[in-house]
Amino acid sequence: MNYTEKSLLALPLEYKKHKQEIEQCFKKLKKKKPKKLDTIVHELDSEVFENIDCLACANCCKTLGPRITYVDIKRLAKYLKIKPSEFSTIYLTIDEDGDYVFKTMPCPFLMPDNYCMVYDSRPKACREYPHTDRKRFYQLLSLTEKNLDVCPAVMEISKAIVKAFD
Ligand code: SF4
Ligand code: SF4
Repeated sequence: MNYTEKSLLALPLEYKKHKQEIEQCFKKLKKKKPKKLDTIVHELDSEVFENIDCLACANCCKTLGPRITYVDIKRLAKYLKIKPSEFSTIYLTIDEDGDYVFKTMPCPFLMPDNYCMVYDSRPKACREYPHTDRKRFYQLLSLTEKNLDVCPAVMEISKAIVKAFD
């Protein structure tokens, strides 16, 4: 078992152990919006993803339904050489927020070896996940909290944020 697989396996326990301290720290950061937050988080993102192998995890592709925009639908349909309407009929449904999401999870494009069948044309939400390299990270703290029990990289980055702002 490699480092990423171990991290994924340990995630429920880590979540139980660190959820409260992370939420308390993020609550303060949401109020203070420290200028150095982006720099620190982006450095942590690079460090953590040097050690995490997403191909040994794919938990986001297995459990989260990315929001799919019309631009995504057009790009994916073109890649698959079908019409956008066909793509929507075959693969998509509308969730309670009125957004297009995949009908089934794990994602229909996730292959058994955890590669993405449509990688170059994947939805914008998949490209951006888990958002730890985005600007104005203070706006993404609530979303990051939701990803704590999904993504082992988010858990590592969040624990390091707590240490950095202790
Ligand atoms: S982004 Fe996070 S949840 Fe998704 S595959 Fe990589 S480590 Fe796993
Ligand atoms: S489209 Fe690709 S990257 Fe996005 S959830 Fe599916 S398998 Fe994962």
